[in-house]
Amino acid sequence: MTRVLIIEDEPEIRRVLGEILVGAGYEALEIANFENLDQISTEVGELQPDLILLDLGLAGLSGLELLRRLRSTSNIPVIILTGNSTESSELLAMGYGADDFILKPYKSEILLLRIRAVLRRTMEGAHQDIYNFAGARIDLARGAISFQKRRIHLTKNEMVILRQLLEERGGIVSRETLMTELWNNQEYINDNALTVNVSRLRTKLEKLIGRNVIETHKGLGYSLVGD
Ligand code: CA
Repeated sequence: MTRVLIIEDEPEIRRVLGEILVGAGYEALEIANFENLDQISTEVGELQPDLILLDLGLAGLSGLELLRRLRSTSNIPVIILTGNSTESSELLAMGYGADDFILKPYKSEILLLRIRAVLRRTMEGAHQDIYNFAGARIDLARGAISFQKRRIHLTKNEMVILRQLLEERGGIVSRETLMTELWNNQEYINDNALTVNVSRLRTKLEKLIGRNVIETHKGLGYSLVGD
């Protein structure tokens, strides 16, 4: 499910936005604490939403400054929501890397259309990098796996292994295939390194999902268990 994060300091507006989003089939996340920008940036980093709706006036904090900080570390699409209609703030927001700009008050249909358009634009070509498996959402482009409210990150090698397993879901991926993907098949050097990488990946997934999802087939390879 696509996760949209609402960054808006007024609880009533948050509530209404949340209802609009959920009604349209999105998962609505929110920031409820507006102490300082560091705390908000950290929360955004932990939540890793697919899109952010950002209010510009945040209980004395600057939404534009927050956008600038977010842009220094991520490409998450951002739609600015504001009651301030001056052209300069619009231009400024675009300069800071906002993906769209919506003036309050807005109609919910317009808001949803703009969200869909931004998501379509930003997710194009990235579809093969998103997998759903065992209740987890796996984003190979970002190397991130979310399960319920938690998210973990994988190393490059772990991602290479998981991608092969996902692409061959239901079947066995041979050790040779994995070693070729990882190290161009220098098997005598890396046979043990493959075992270590697979077991790290297995442990990470097991901690997140609560059960082992990588099965070892002695002498053959590995497969994913579950769907
Ligand atoms: Ca506000």
